[in-house]
Amino acid sequence: MFLNTDAIVLRETRYKDADKILTVLTRSSGLQTVTARGVCRKGSALAASAQLLAYSQMCLFTYKDRASLREAVLAEAWLPLRDDIGRMILGVYAAEVCAALATEGAECAELLDFLLLTLKRLAYKRQPDALVKAVFELGMMRLNGYGPDASACAVCGEADMTNPCLHLTLGQLHCEKCKPSLPQGISMPLTRGGVAALRFISEKEPGKIFSFTLNENELTPLAHAAEAYMLTQLERGFQALDMYKRLL
Ligand SMILES: [Zn+2]
Repeated sequence: MFLNTDAIVLRETRYKDADKILTVLTRSSGLQTVTARGVCRKGSALAASAQLLAYSQMCLFTYKDRASLREAVLAEAWLPLRDDIGRMILGVYAAEVCAALATEGAECAELLDFLLLTLKRLAYKRQPDALVKAVFELGMMRLNGYGPDASACAVCGEADMTNPCLHLTLGQLHCEKCKPSLPQGISMPLTRGGVAALRFISEKEPGKIFSFTLNENELTPLAHAAEAYMLTQLERGFQALDMYKRLL
């Protein structure tokens, strides 16, 4: 049967001489593994839509558990990202995280929209990369039900904490002095501004959670905590993240 949906390429692998195997995130049917025949041939009408991170209206032909790309109209190639290696790798990292969290066959509109928003921020907005990356990591955790409880100290209940920290395995905030009352595990320090940002990301609708600024002294600890929190919760690393760190 034919499936018409908008979709983004999360992963591409060259296959045979001129083909690719794509992992795409579709709006209506989640992750799909798609064969894209002839897309590496010069002049292929599908070449632009079969490249990493390309966002297109796709027509897929699906049979049993296989899908092939029949038609595609490119909607966004994120050209500014392709001119900036650091931001491109962050985009690929965002795609890798989405591929790890999306499910096959299930509707994925919220996840797809959030990935598109993240790429738009990376490609077209002048926000610091560290801010976009941190909001993406925390936003993905929230969309998947792993968002930290940012309301108050898990031990004493104080909302205005002195030296606030985020406990990575518990996903709860605490004052530095309250740490001994919590189960063992790594906690990352935050600032008051970082806690406010964490609350903003937890509470606002996903389409608006990138809309804040933070000075560098507050952003750096938030960025470290966001990355460590996501990796701890998912219990895995990401190749593109390792590449990004080698680049810094
Ligand atoms: Zn406390």
